[in-house]
Amino acid sequence: MNLLNFTSTYPNEESCKLKFKEIRDKQGVTCPRCGGTDHYWKRDKWQYECKNCKTRTTLRSGTIMHNSKLPFRYWFIAIHLLTSTKKSFSAKEVQRQLGHKRYQPVWEMLHKLRSAMGGRDESYQLAGQIELDEGFFSTITAKEKKDKPLKRGRGSQRKTKVLVMAESSVVEGKTTKKGKPRRVGFIKMQVIDNLEADTITPIVEEKVSKDAVLRYG
Ligand SMILES: [Zn+2]
Repeated sequence: MNLLNFTSTYPNEESCKLKFKEIRDKQGVTCPRCGGTDHYWKRDKWQYECKNCKTRTTLRSGTIMHNSKLPFRYWFIAIHLLTSTKKSFSAKEVQRQLGHKRYQPVWEMLHKLRSAMGGRDESYQLAGQIELDEGFFSTITAKEKKDKPLKRGRGSQRKTKVLVMAESSVVEGKTTKKGKPRRVGFIKMQVIDNLEADTITPIVEEKVSKDAVLRYG
């Protein structure tokens, strides 16, 4: 997704919130009180309400944006900056680009996003269309929440770390039986020492075309 596509797809706060809700709905919402998974959507409040115990859950609650007061659109812009270019952005620079007064919340946002990029199921799918959506928007489980969300170093629980890079591109003029564009793809795998950005970034830069586009799912 390039800058023009990005700005036309996400022109305002509401478009970002709606997209975020769409991804959350796809993953399912779990009630923090009773564990119920059936919810009403309170459109006027932008909250879920548990059908069982009536507990309300905000759109951000239990996600990477938990406790953040920054607009959804800031998160979307930051994700776009982090994933669609080969540049690495300092929190200071992102703060400047967003025109946000305070440094700390921007720093925290970037820190969480970078951790999510590195810690997602030990895999990081890249492609002609990069699919990172659920990595960024994954909900925090109760245990993770207790241990502080998206903590670094969680990879230590596993033995071998393999960076998976999946690429795909549309084959011109060909469609699948369902009428969707046919894609060809191949996968690259590499064993890596850890999932820190410093390890992954050079590999990704080496293996993935800079023309790759981010797909928000
Ligand atoms: Zn409930």
